[in-house]
Amino acid sequence: MNKKQKKLLVRIIIAAVLFVPLYLISEGIIALPVPKWGVFAFFLVPYLLVGYDILRKAALGIVRGKMFDENFLMTVATVGAIALGEYGEGVAVMLLYQVGELFQSYAVGRSRRNITELMDIRPDYANIERDGELVRVEPDEVEPGSVIVVQPGEKIPIDGVVTEGTSSLNTAALTGESLPRDVEPESRVLSGSINLTGVLKIRTTAEFDESTASKILDLVENAASRKSKSENFISKFARYYTPIVCAAALALAVLPPVFCLVTGLGMAAYPSALALWGDWVLRACTFLVISCPCAVVISIPLSFFAGLGGASNQGVLIKGSNYLETLSAVRTVVFDKTGTITKGNFAVETVHRSPVEPEKLLEYAAHVECHSSHPIAKSIQEAYGGEIDLSRVTDIEEISGHGVVARVDGMKIALGNDKLMDRLGVAHEECFHVGTMLHAAIDGVYSGHIVIADELKENSRRAMAELRRAGVAKTVMLTGDAESVAKKVAEDLGISDYRAELLPADKVNIVEELIGESKKGAKLAFVGDGINDAPVLGRADIGIAMGALGSDAAIEAADVVLMDDDPLKIAKAIKISRKCLRIVRENIGFALGVKLLCLLLAALGLANMWIAIIADVGVMILAVLNAIRCLFVKKL
Ligand code: ADP
Ligand code: MG
Repeated sequence: MNKKQKKLLVRIIIAAVLFVPLYLISEGIIALPVPKWGVFAFFLVPYLLVGYDILRKAALGIVRGKMFDENFLMTVATVGAIALGEYGEGVAVMLLYQVGELFQSYAVGRSRRNITELMDIRPDYANIERDGELVRVEPDEVEPGSVIVVQPGEKIPIDGVVTEGTSSLNTAALTGESLPRDVEPESRVLSGSINLTGVLKIRTTAEFDESTASKILDLVENAASRKSKSENFISKFARYYTPIVCAAALALAVLPPVFCLVTGLGMAAYPSALALWGDWVLRACTFLVISCPCAVVISIPLSFFAGLGGASNQGVLIKGSNYLETLSAVRTVVFDKTGTITKGNFAVETVHRSPVEPEKLLEYAAHVECHSSHPIAKSIQEAYGGEIDLSRVTDIEEISGHGVVARVDGMKIALGNDKLMDRLGVAHEECFHVGTMLHAAIDGVYSGHIVIADELKENSRRAMAELRRAGVAKTVMLTGDAESVAKKVAEDLGISDYRAELLPADKVNIVEELIGESKKGAKLAFVGDGINDAPVLGRADIGIAMGALGSDAAIEAADVVLMDDDPLKIAKAIKISRKCLRIVRENIGFALGVKLLCLLLAALGLANMWIAIIADVGVMILAVLNAIRCLFVKKL
């Protein structure tokens, strides 16, 4: 509890202690002969003590012309009650309203803190070695390429590569993965992970601001500002709702008594015209208390906020509550293959029909690929294993969805798929292997092919099953790879549809087609690894990027980022969003239902202010507790 909340709590307690005996006296339960003005004066003390800030805010609101808010409703209602001699009720309403406010600010503060604690990845300092001593510096003073030292128990402040030492890292805050990750020299490490066992020396590869931890924090902090439709609806709703309620209350205070006075109907029940007015004004005040929209107004943003927090705790970063809403309506999921469903670590299986030695071909291939960030390029370089001499390579041209052409040792070497060979007019040979073919041409002459194979991710099959269980009717795989490979993967995993041999632009067209075909309100998600998928990620109703840790393009283009590459998280993200929206709907329905019922009772004169305020605070507390459930996500 913070200072402000503590102060409010103290005010509430003192006011309650004063209030209870006063109430008993005024109701005649404790017989003490106190004159009416005395009771009034005594009641004023707890009233002002507990409510002065509300009264002040209401007054300020009136002065600033923004009068129709909860403070105004409460002020009018309680002042009205007191003016009518219902001191006890007036004070009780203010008191309970403040109890509700306190609870709400406590709950909101708690869940916010919870989320930032979960996301506790902000590094505070970096250690640099200077003249044999460790010096603590601000992480943003560290230049890329410097060597930092991270002791066991410390957070890694900046992304980099290990140069010395072995250790295991806790990456849970980044990926939701609870198993520690072992690192050794040459391993890439991400800021925000916690070093568990050994001292590490790390050569930084980025500035602090460009490091993973900073980027994720930016994302999370900005997420709250991208409002969902329901949240926007609520702020609009509140703008019109309160004035309407006030008008209705005014009508309730004026019209029925005027009607009675004019027609003479029902007058018999009242000793005087004044008593008649008093009764209806009190009903109008009760009406105002009931219609205070606090529960709805507070619980909706809180639900979304908790949903975003719960998701990021699982390694699913959602960039705004609007995306939670879209996710919950996803009925079609479209996948990229390489790096999304498969690991993207191609192993070289064989080299066929090469006039040069296989090792030589691999060497050329590794040099041709020296600047590509495609998973194929990385795998070829790994298979080659040797040093790459960049000075041997010139004129590199990467043709997206085709392959790469470059000059190595002065020879023009092309490396890529059938399409690349067709494009260059090189006759190429089919292979009996099922696998991804990399054909090579040296100076326009066909020079064999490298057969590479990729592995499925462990969770891909389960991911498809979970998606089906989460109500996703259609899964489609789009790939630039060969038909035979695509078919095998799709059949293995039970993906409902696949298209192969696509260029990145074709993927955009197909996604547009699929969006056109889908039913109204049903949304389409595209899941990609971010390398050459950025246009599709942008075009889909919702773009989900895999393995985005480190890939900038994906973090920017995607709406949802799966931190640990795990396709199972797609279903999880959808489930989280559904739960969150269900809770939002429950809260709206429940709050409005109770309010309507109370309004009806009040209009009929059956509910007094006690019932009204207890219903209001009660609904709010239940709605807030319900909203907080969004934070807790079941493990799949
Ligand atoms: P996916 O849709 O599976 O992610 P891409 O669109 O990235 O595939 O690439 C499609 C195909 O284009 C690859 O299967 C490969 O045959 C060829 N290709 C793309 N980039 C390269 C590269 N750097 N080197 C060799 N071949 C490549
Ligand atoms: Mg790809």
